[in-house]
Amino acid sequence: MLTLALSKGRIFEETLPLLAAAGITVSEDPEKSRKLILSTSQADVRVVLVRATDVPTYVENGGADVGVAGLDVLIEHGGAGLYQPLDLQIAKCRMSVATRDDFDYASAVKQGSRIRVATKYTAIARQHFADKGVHVDLIKLYGSMELAPLTGLADAIVDLVSTGSTLKANHLVEVERILDVSSRLVVNQAALKLQREPIRRLIDAFAQAVAARQ
Ligand code: ADP
Ligand code: MG
Repeated sequence: MLTLALSKGRIFEETLPLLAAAGITVSEDPEKSRKLILSTSQADVRVVLVRATDVPTYVENGGADVGVAGLDVLIEHGGAGLYQPLDLQIAKCRMSVATRDDFDYASAVKQGSRIRVATKYTAIARQHFADKGVHVDLIKLYGSMELAPLTGLADAIVDLVSTGSTLKANHLVEVERILDVSSRLVVNQAALKLQREPIRRLIDAFAQAVAARQ
C-alpha cells in the first residue's frame, strides 16, 4: 500500500490533475466527505488528509510514504529527513514582508529600529531579518496575520501572497519579497527503498505531467 499525504484545499485540488496523469483518481471529494482516508482507483494507493503543516511530519515518520507540501512549510519544518525529488509547480505564491500602507518600513530599517513582526513562519522570518541585519521582535501567530498591523499588535507581517488582494483589502502593502513558493513532492527515505517501483512510477508520472505544463 502506498499512502499519499495531502492537505485539503488548493494543494489537494492542484494535485488531482497530477494524480490523473499517473492514472490515479481519488474516490471522494474531501469537501463533501468527512473521511480522512480516501481510497483511489488503484487498490494499492490511498490518500490521507492532514493539515498542510503536518505533511512533513507524516512523511518523515512513516505515517505516509509520500506527500505534497509547500516550500514554506518545508523550510519552516526543516525537512532534513525527507527526500524532495520534484518541484510540482503548483500552489505558487511568494513569502513577503507586508506593513500598513502608512508605515515607513524603509526608514525603520535604515534607522535600525526594532520592528515587531507577526508571523506563522518564525524560522523563515528570523533567518530573513538576521541576514539583513534587522532587529525584530517576532510574534508567533497561527492565522489571520493581516490583522496584526491593523490592531497595533505588530508593525509588519511575514506571510504568503499570491494576487495581493487580501493585503490590499486590509490596507497593507508588500514591502519585501523573501522567497518564491511552490509545492514539492516529498518522500519518506525508508519507503523509497522498500517501495522503490511504485514510488518511482509516481515520481516519473508527476514529472512528466509537470514538464508537459511548462
Ligand atoms: P492553511 O490554511 O492550513 O495554512 P492553506 O491552504 O492556506 O493552508 O495553505 C497550504 C499551502 O498552500 C501553503 O503551505 C502554501 O504552500 C500554499 N499557499 C498558501 N496560500 C497560498 C496562496 N495565496 N496562493 C498559492 N498557494 C498558497
Ligand atoms: Mg490559508
